[in-house]
Amino acid sequence: MSKADYHIHTLFSDGKSEPEEYIRAAIENNLTEMGFSDHLTPSGEQQSWSIIPDRLPLYFDTIERLARKYRDQITLLAGIEVDYLPGHIDETISYLEKYPFDYVIGSVHFMGSDPVDLGRSFYEGKDIAKLFTDYFRLVEEAASTGLFDIMAHPDLVRVFGHKYPGDATPLYRKLAATLKRYDVAFEINTNGMNKPLAGFYPDPGYLPLFAEEGVSLCINSDAHTPERVAQHFDEAYKLAAEAGFREVAHFRERERRPRPIEEQATATKR
Ligand SMILES: [Zn+2]
Ligand SMILES: [Zn+2]
Repeated sequence: MSKADYHIHTLFSDGKSEPEEYIRAAIENNLTEMGFSDHLTPSGEQQSWSIIPDRLPLYFDTIERLARKYRDQITLLAGIEVDYLPGHIDETISYLEKYPFDYVIGSVHFMGSDPVDLGRSFYEGKDIAKLFTDYFRLVEEAASTGLFDIMAHPDLVRVFGHKYPGDATPLYRKLAATLKRYDVAFEINTNGMNKPLAGFYPDPGYLPLFAEEGVSLCINSDAHTPERVAQHFDEAYKLAAEAGFREVAHFRERERRPRPIEEQATATKR
């Protein structure tokens, strides 16, 4: 039986605790795998919420040391959450080539130079339908680069509770088909529960559509504190199984390894 959480932020980026504290939380929650995914913003400009690139060797050393220390209790992986910045693809590639990540999470946090999740003011006076369409297009574009293994929080523009005016089915259908075409996984991200949205990303109503398209699934907490590791996983696994998913994706050295979801659901303790 195995269960993983691949979306974890530590003090290396904007998480609040040392890596080891998340490991203890993961073991308490009966996870068999956990992957670190601190933020990396490959723009040449240091962002306060992202890892200082010079510290990436230390990031790997730390994970390697802890992986050895805890190897009898849990498997630890070295991932990263990389901002998709269309103008900085070469820089992104150079980081991904230089370091031996187990998986790379691609994230659209920026539309142009503005982050979509830092304040409601971003949404004021904007055409929400167009915003959703543009955001989904960026996620699809990111997936099509082949740089990423998993796309994070695929409808992050819901973070403050905004809803697509009208039937969003075509938007989600196209996104799911694109992820499938480029063989990129998506995640159910439970951290939306801690935001004004008070729900998961993506909107669970569209999960069956991702399952129908055959997109690979991860279930992740996006924890920024140890208390939130594997948060709401019971509900997320249940929703995924009900939506028709039979597998979740695990990763090693950037290779996907599907695992049956049935055994995952029964392994869940919280
Ligand atoms: Zn993110
Ligand atoms: Zn994150």
